[in-house]
Amino acid sequence: MQEKSSYKSEKLSQASHSAERLEQLLSTRDTWVFDLDNTLYHHRIDLFAQIDEKMGSFIANLLSTDRTEARRVQKGYLMKYGTSLAGLMKHHGVDPHEFLEDVHDIDFSPVEEDRRLIEALDRLDGRKVIFTNADCNYTNQVISRLGVKDHFDGIFDIIAAGLIPKPQPPTYDLFINEMDIDPTRAVFFEDMARNLEPAHAMGMATVWVNTSSPWGNPHEDATYIDGEIDDLSKWLHDHTA
Ligand SMILES: [Mg+2]
Repeated sequence: MQEKSSYKSEKLSQASHSAERLEQLLSTRDTWVFDLDNTLYHHRIDLFAQIDEKMGSFIANLLSTDRTEARRVQKGYLMKYGTSLAGLMKHHGVDPHEFLEDVHDIDFSPVEEDRRLIEALDRLDGRKVIFTNADCNYTNQVISRLGVKDHFDGIFDIIAAGLIPKPQPPTYDLFINEMDIDPTRAVFFEDMARNLEPAHAMGMATVWVNTSSPWGNPHEDATYIDGEIDDLSKWLHDHTA
């Protein structure tokens, strides 16, 4: 169960400060970095439930175990290494390409065209890039369905990251070098709070997309979050109008 953290209470009491800070960021930064899952599309679409199911089957088959144990292994690796895949590669020699293809073979129909997001990205000046722990093939399928495939200047995926996922710091160095990004001009939107920490340390402004998921929460004394929103599409639409 999700615990109510003191971080959450604090942020709510600072809501107006956070809104002001975000307004300021929008007017002073010109590089927009977006996570994909549960950030560019709303978490209620819950694409990850399907991927989760696929990962569960994959791991249960791999370890010849039941789904309860498979889930324990999956979530344990996610928290320890940043992705379940990273743990599966390290401890079980899993072929990453085979794994990524298997778990992303899902029904994309819950993702529908998002007019608000399309309009917001149309109006947002500057460079827009995606920084995801998923792969490009999957990312392209999602953003095609959202109607925003042509709105991005680049995608930095888990393959480009040498299969080293966020939040491991070397991947952020690789990201800004490969994509030629000045972190002090960038804003990073992401639902997994801990993935914001290395970005903030480099000088990026950070916006946490709160999905009320126990996996995404920041720890209590987190100081690496500049703003908090709960619906990127709505927020960006309202603030680029
Ligand atoms: Mg995400």
